[in-house]
Amino acid sequence: MHEMSLAEGILQLVEDTARRENARKVKTVVLEIGTLSSVEVEALRFCFDAVTRDSLAEGAALEIQSVDGAGWCLPCGETVPMNELYGACPRCGSYQVQPTAGTEMRVKEIEID
Ligand SMILES: [Zn+2]
Repeated sequence: MHEMSLAEGILQLVEDTARRENARKVKTVVLEIGTLSSVEVEALRFCFDAVTRDSLAEGAALEIQSVDGAGWCLPCGETVPMNELYGACPRCGSYQVQPTAGTEMRVKEIEID
């Protein structure tokens, strides 16, 4: 599952940070997930709980902030909002839209003890 490898990647980053800071416990992990990233938030939460068991991040709260999608429409020559990857431009209906925001997922903040 796609979300399982994402959760493992998050845990690795979180644990590296926690060790570097000599943390005893990770309290909160804040993630930014773009609406175009095709990440299933519920599945990710489930996987995060599973992979953090017996780690420094066990029981950590997972806070998820959604990032709106946007793309550059070639015919319009401007940035337009996008709700789905490979979707049409809401202004002109063209499919020549390059996603510019909302396709990524990243760890924004880690709160440790
Ligand atoms: Zn357009």
